[in-house]
Amino acid sequence: MREITTTDELLLIKVGKTGFVLNERPDVRRVHHASCNSVSTWIDHPKYFSESSNAAKDWLDRRFGSDGWVNCSYCGGLNSTLP
Ligand SMILES: [Zn+2]
Repeated sequence: MREITTTDELLLIKVGKTGFVLNERPDVRRVHHASCNSVSTWIDHPKYFSESSNAAKDWLDRRFGSDGWVNCSYCGGLNSTLP
């Protein structure tokens, strides 16, 4: 995954509705589908993006361990079936 550094980049990802966004909050690292409404339109916490769920999972597990992050319960995160 790569860090999302600008609000413009984040908005393009949300409008594009493809890929996955990690929201790294102080209490939990949660992964969302790009079109999830829970992803804010501003960078309130560090956010990361990947187009591929497999690449995202590899990156997350390597960096945080398999229990160091969670999928969003609303959109399903990496398992999302959202369009
Ligand atoms: Zn979500």
